[in-house]
Amino acid sequence: MPDAQDTLAFAAAMPKVSLHCHLTGTLHPRTVAELAAKHGVPMPDGRTAETLYDHGSYENLGEFLRVLDLVGAVMLDRDDFHRTTYETLTLAAQHNVIYREMFISPPSHPDVDYPTMIEGITAGLRDAEADHGIVCRLIFAMNRNADPADGIELVRNVIRHRTDDILGIGLDYEEVTGPPERFAEAFALAKKAGLHRTAHSESGPPQNIITLLDLLDCERIDHGYHVVTDPALTRRCRDEGIPFTCTPVSSDIGRYSGSGDGTHAVIAAMVDAGLAVTIDGDDPPMFGTDPTHDLVALVRALGYGPEQLMRFTENGIEAAWLDASDKATLRSRARMMSTAK
Ligand SMILES: [Zn+2]
Repeated sequence: MPDAQDTLAFAAAMPKVSLHCHLTGTLHPRTVAELAAKHGVPMPDGRTAETLYDHGSYENLGEFLRVLDLVGAVMLDRDDFHRTTYETLTLAAQHNVIYREMFISPPSHPDVDYPTMIEGITAGLRDAEADHGIVCRLIFAMNRNADPADGIELVRNVIRHRTDDILGIGLDYEEVTGPPERFAEAFALAKKAGLHRTAHSESGPPQNIITLLDLLDCERIDHGYHVVTDPALTRRCRDEGIPFTCTPVSSDIGRYSGSGDGTHAVIAAMVDAGLAVTIDGDDPPMFGTDPTHDLVALVRALGYGPEQLMRFTENGIEAAWLDASDKATLRSRARMMSTAK
């Protein structure tokens, strides 16, 4: 049995799969400041790189989303998307992330057209793969607080400008005021076009998870902590192997995965119930975390060892929207990395 120090070193060195990370939430504050200066737009609220992110204030989701939108507003041209994609993937590769499916939020960049966004992001992920070996694919997410017609328009744009790197669609922002059933038509359109489907359920009731599975035909649930308050739903999700992309640090700050005291009790309950849990950072620098730190938080709070940490990676590979041969490649790469230490 490895001691805690060995496990922390293992958490840093082990191969990781990232299925719940939003590009707009990954910008280093210095990058935000530089892009703001480049475009001659003021920093959000007159903040500096040092004061841009205030983790404590994100207990209020509205405040977090407000800052996220302000960050999105400094990403304006192809180079901005190239740079930010390359930077987040470079950092992820330094934490031994080997594969990521990353959320892109067009509603956060209302002044940027789809071809500009997609060309910049694609250039960034190609360069990151060439330089660091990390593979990244994309999920275009709609804003659930917008009009359902905007969601349909987003899906139409994704279909119109689709590339092989775009695997599916997502749904995020404020859940209580944006119930998922409003987006059934957008999700049906995406399914018909062969796009994969996932959606956030963090603050809403367990019924929303049932809606995501049965009405929106989601293949994964992002967060989904409320599942454990409904034993029948928990059994169903376990039996159907529904993946849950949990984000310990960001959800703890928001008090969605528990009481906000760092116990991560809800994630522990999901793991104990046999659910297919994966671990990621959501919006890492905004919440003061990174791909290793989210695992370290679980090691410290729950005493997880290397076997459980690797199970998160294996769950991530299984839950990835890749074909069997790409998954086999990832599995062998992960195995080589985890035994090389
Ligand atoms: Zn998220």
